[in-house]
Amino acid sequence: TTNTDFVLAVEGLTVSFDGFKAVSDLSFYVDENEIRVIIGPNGAGKTTVLDLICGRTRATEGSIKFKNRELTKLKEHDIVKAGVGRKFQNPSIYGDLTVFENLEISFPRGRSVWGALTFNRDAEVINKIHEIAEMIFLKDLLHHQADLLSHGQKQWLEIGMLLIQDPQLLMLDEPVAGMSVGERQQTAELLRKITKGRSVIVIEHDMQFVAQIADKVTVLHQGKILAEGSAEKVKQDPKVIDVYLGH
Ligand code: ADP
Repeated sequence: TTNTDFVLAVEGLTVSFDGFKAVSDLSFYVDENEIRVIIGPNGAGKTTVLDLICGRTRATEGSIKFKNRELTKLKEHDIVKAGVGRKFQNPSIYGDLTVFENLEISFPRGRSVWGALTFNRDAEVINKIHEIAEMIFLKDLLHHQADLLSHGQKQWLEIGMLLIQDPQLLMLDEPVAGMSVGERQQTAELLRKITKGRSVIVIEHDMQFVAQIADKVTVLHQGKILAEGSAEKVKQDPKVIDVYLGH
C-alpha cells in the first residue's frame, strides 16, 4: 500500500496559534470503508484537526490529501464540493421546515434555488430524500416539522442533510452526545451503513460507543498521536490509560 491509496492522507500537519502548536507534525491515513475515531483529553487538538481538514483553520505546515487532492490551499466551500462533509455538535437544521424540506434544501441543486424558495421537486430528488429518510430512521416523520423531533432525531436529520450531498468523507463531532441508549445503538447502525464506499471520522468520548464503531482509533495528546490501533489495543495502552482513560 502506498500513501496514494488512502482516501485521506494527513502528513506533517501543524498549526500554531501565537506560537502554541495545537496540532504538531501529525500524520495519519484513513481508508475507504473505514470509521476512524479520534479520542483524547480536552485540548488535545481533536476539533482543530477536523477544522484543518474542512478548511476552517489554515495549516501552518503539512499536507492534507483527499483522494490525492491537496486540501490545505482550498477554500472551505471548495472542500465541501470536493466531497468532505462535516457535522458539528449542535444540529444546524431549519426548525420551522419539515424533515422532507430540510433534506430537499440540502440537495446540491436545491441549494442554488433556496433563495427563490422554488424547489426543484424532480423524481431524482424525491427518491433520494426517501432513501435517506429511511436510512436515518425518519421515513414516517418526513412531513413533521423539524423542531418537533427528538434531540437524537435532529442529529440524524443533520447527518441526512450531509448524506444527500454524497460526501466521500464525513466528519462527525460527538454524534451520540445526549442520545438515549436506543438512539446510540441506532446511530452505530447508521454509521456502519453510511461508511460503505466512504470514510468517516468521528470525535467521541464514550468509550463503549468507540469500541462499537471504530475500525481504528487515533489517540491525540498535546497535538500529537499518543497511540493508534484497534479500540481494544488502545484501551490497554498504559500511556492512554495514564493521560486519558484513567481520569
Ligand atoms: P479538543 O477538541 O481535543 O478538545 P481543540 O482542538 O479544541 O482540542 O484545542 C486544542 C488546543 O488548541 C487547545 O489548547 C485550544 O485552546 C487551542 N486552540 C484551538 N483553537 C484555537 C484558536 N483559534 N486560537 C487559539 N488557540 C486555539
